[in-house]
Amino acid sequence: MLVALLFVSPLRSQDFPLELRVPVAVSPPNLVELDQGVEPAPAAAELVVPFSLLGRFVLPGTRMVLDLPFAGGGNDASTPVTVIHGARPGPVLCLAAGIHGDEINGIEIVRRVANALQAEQIAGTVVAVPVVNLSGFQRGTRYLPDRRDLNRSFPGSRYGSMASRIAHVFFDGIARHCDALIDFHTGSFDRSNLPQVRADLRLPAVLQLARGLGATVVLHSPGSKGMLRLAATAAGIPALTFEVGAPARLQVSEIEVAVAAINGLLHHLGMSQGSPSDEATQPIFYDSQWVRANAGGLLIGEVALGQRVQKGQRLGRVIDPIHNTERVIMSPVFGRVLGMAQNQQVLPGFAAFHLGEETSEQHAVEEAAAEISDAAEDASEEDGGRVGTETLDRSAQIDEDVE
Ligand SMILES: [Zn+2]
Repeated sequence: MLVALLFVSPLRSQDFPLELRVPVAVSPPNLVELDQGVEPAPAAAELVVPFSLLGRFVLPGTRMVLDLPFAGGGNDASTPVTVIHGARPGPVLCLAAGIHGDEINGIEIVRRVANALQAEQIAGTVVAVPVVNLSGFQRGTRYLPDRRDLNRSFPGSRYGSMASRIAHVFFDGIARHCDALIDFHTGSFDRSNLPQVRADLRLPAVLQLARGLGATVVLHSPGSKGMLRLAATAAGIPALTFEVGAPARLQVSEIEVAVAAINGLLHHLGMSQGSPSDEATQPIFYDSQWVRANAGGLLIGEVALGQRVQKGQRLGRVIDPIHNTERVIMSPVFGRVLGMAQNQQVLPGFAAFHLGEETSEQHAVEEAAAEISDAAEDASEEDGGRVGTETLDRSAQIDEDVE
């Protein structure tokens, strides 16, 4: 247990690692015994030190709401950070939402998960930040006041743009102090996503984290420069994006799906002793592609999120009200609708339906590894594309599946 305790507290000054090692250091003869696999004394195994964050100490078995200064919102603006510090040792899990201020499903997911946790009953620590982009949330917009995208600004810089400074405050003050991170988003620009995880499956620790989410849809995505999850994994912190629903909407059933998945993850990580109902379920891996509109006009979908579709099945149509014509968008594959645009006016090439073809974990990981060179070339892009109706052009790549 002492070894586990040291493992989850990797040499952070605030975790007093020197004190943890004292019982070993004062009893040299025991070192030999420890090397032979002898368990340390139970008293040492139960030791949990206060959790230090943002200059405050949170005692074991308690919760505290801290203020994260918001660099772009005026001198006295801050956003809440709820720390639930368990009475038993365990990992530090960060739950972040609202990096895009209009993506409110995640805000409610993080709030619900944090409110339901009892500090005295969990192992490890949950750091919950429901509204990272406070300014965007208050104005109901994805962006910061300088029109920059916070999720292209991590890890940020103390002396950079406003977005870069806000990213830095969060990354340095919160993310770096965690052992794993989940960042909640929704579809963007009037698109809705089935609850799904985007993760870099080339990283074993990230794959392991995704496995803990139960029967959740998992897509390989290397991510784009400046994304929080990319900056986190570059700093050695396994991280993934959890996409839930559409922006500017509160979708209760999707929120409940994600809350259940996070509760399953807490159980999987040994942090909670809650319902193990999802423990046996595996994530569902998909290869995915966008089907695009070939014509501009008014898009009307004819399928539902999560629906399974046949190759050649109608997904929707684009209406040209000027010439009173309609063009049909058909599915190029047998798959499942993982994301789709709301009915709206579209331009030619608009990414309308995100289709997934179910695959195995092994195949998804192999595909991810094989795409390393492609990913390097398309570092700024999120996903491949394919145009529906007449042509099948897999080379069309634009950044519309943004997180
Ligand atoms: Zn987002």
